[in-house]
Amino acid sequence: MGQIYLKTDEEIEILRVSCLLVGKTLAEVAKIIVPGVSPLDLDKVADEFIRDHGAKPGFLGYGGFPNTLCTSVNEQVVHGVPTNRPLESGDIVSVDCGVVLNGFWGDSAFTFEVGEVSKEVKKLLEVTKASLYKGIEAAIAGNRTGDIGAAVQNYAENHGYGVVRELVGHGFGKNLHEGPEVPNFGKSGKGKLLKKGMTIAIEPMINLGGKNVKQLDDGWTIVTTDGKPSAHFEHDIAIRNGKAEILSSFESIEAVLKDKV
Ligand code: MG
Ligand code: MG
Repeated sequence: MGQIYLKTDEEIEILRVSCLLVGKTLAEVAKIIVPGVSPLDLDKVADEFIRDHGAKPGFLGYGGFPNTLCTSVNEQVVHGVPTNRPLESGDIVSVDCGVVLNGFWGDSAFTFEVGEVSKEVKKLLEVTKASLYKGIEAAIAGNRTGDIGAAVQNYAENHGYGVVRELVGHGFGKNLHEGPEVPNFGKSGKGKLLKKGMTIAIEPMINLGGKNVKQLDDGWTIVTTDGKPSAHFEHDIAIRNGKAEILSSFESIEAVLKDKV
């Protein structure tokens, strides 16, 4: 996944601006998520919002990806390509967004409910988001990447869910993917040492059923092999003053969701 670049305090402040723009973009997306809206509609809103704020949609063209957002519906885990197929009540959609501003990336994701979602799926979303914060709590200087993975894995598996192995969190900065790799599973005390100045995207992908996934023929979309729903939440953090400081934010997103109820 590449080299680890430790950031200065100044670089972390520049990164924070990119990370916060992703949260604001996801909040714009949240505003329009209702049954009948298509993932391509979400993509358009995000693309315009990012450009209006002087940033570049980072995912567009990244490795040949065709859109600004990854939109992964229901059994789609991540890297879903937006389509014009309308979302239906009861669906969930994981929206992953990356921007580049002032030469630095932000990369964050949130899974949204569409209309009325079953209790079972609501719980999956709650637990996946909570597992992200468990991982963040473990991201302290002197710990290792395995401590983050173990925290996420233990929490999710205690609820009976499957933890995706094939896709992992990552360092980020001037590049979307830098070292270290940060799996959502692992053993405490194993993996790369976490140090001051590391900036990391932590992003649990948690399945209602088994942990196994496969890629669709489109060359992008990852789906659960058992067809059960999957959730994805991602924050960007910096290791500073011995602990994780969250650079991205769900605050604007959660404010929009509160207003919708
Ligand atoms: Mg992402
Ligand atoms: Mg990421």
